[in-house]
Amino acid sequence: MTHGTGGASRGRATWLSRPGVIEHVKGAGPGPLLLCIGGLHGNEPAGVRALEAMIETIAARRRHLKGDFVAVAGNLQALGAGRRFLAYDLNRVWTPARVAAARSPDAANGSALDPEDLEMLRILDVLDEVAERRRGPVYVLDIHTTSGGGGAFTTASDTPHNRRFAIAIPVPLVMRLDQHLEGTFNGYMDHLGYTAAVFECGQHEEAEARLRAASAVWLAIHAAGLLDWRDAPEAAAAYRALRHAYRGFPRVLESTYRHPVEPADRYRTRPGFRNFQRVRAGDIVGDDRHGEVAVPKSGRLLMPLYQEQGEDGFFVVREITAATSETVAGAAEVAPSGG
Ligand SMILES: [Zn+2]
Repeated sequence: MTHGTGGASRGRATWLSRPGVIEHVKGAGPGPLLLCIGGLHGNEPAGVRALEAMIETIAARRRHLKGDFVAVAGNLQALGAGRRFLAYDLNRVWTPARVAAARSPDAANGSALDPEDLEMLRILDVLDEVAERRRGPVYVLDIHTTSGGGGAFTTASDTPHNRRFAIAIPVPLVMRLDQHLEGTFNGYMDHLGYTAAVFECGQHEEAEARLRAASAVWLAIHAAGLLDWRDAPEAAAAYRALRHAYRGFPRVLESTYRHPVEPADRYRTRPGFRNFQRVRAGDIVGDDRHGEVAVPKSGRLLMPLYQEQGEDGFFVVREITAATSETVAGAAEVAPSGG
């Protein structure tokens, strides 16, 4: 259960010493609370590893930190098993109804709780503590990786404050993904009134995924207002590195199609497809028990499925050509000075 996340026992955590809480860093002054969570899917450890590796550095800045930084590991049991989930997907259960059911006395008295029931209750306890202890607005960054390669992106629920937060990370921002997905953790954070974004930091096993996750966390620390550029030089460096690496990618896109799959479909994506690869209506991208699977509309492919578990075969997204960072975020993208 501990899964290398015993940071809370090192004595710095003053109020969070729960399994899965990697660390809580309380800044010297009041301010926003930034919650970063990785590993809601157990086969996506990059975010957890990045948070574990950077926490000492963040803690060393506490004198300059305005607010609180909390790092959490998501599905501990699935992380231990290296699987997306054990009984059910922990990133599809965060509806008010499911949350209420999980919290009900009946659920607690039940003798046959699924592994994810326990994970959900543990994370709900963390969220209770966040709500209780926060000294300002709450920001949430949910870090994932994808089974296919081809680059990182952010996504967020469609509100100005979420867009502004997401666009602080200079990689493609994909809007309206949540129209296809019910019960995401990110959607629940938005429901609670928190400012939230998802960062998909690359392919599960690629070394760069962890580096991009760390970059995104530094940029989120800056965007949430916990540290300024001067006190977070890593954020400025991360901005320049990502900006450079993604200069050829569209800045803002929207999802236009999701190909849902069930295990019985036996869907397989054909080899070689990558995030943001251009496709045309009719292109064959996979096969299932009925035969060839074609994309129904032209655009760019996103998250082609290359693993056993998952309910999304692929998405099609398209560039919002009129969108700039300014029109999407309602404010100019915040770049470090001299960048
Ligand atoms: Zn994921």
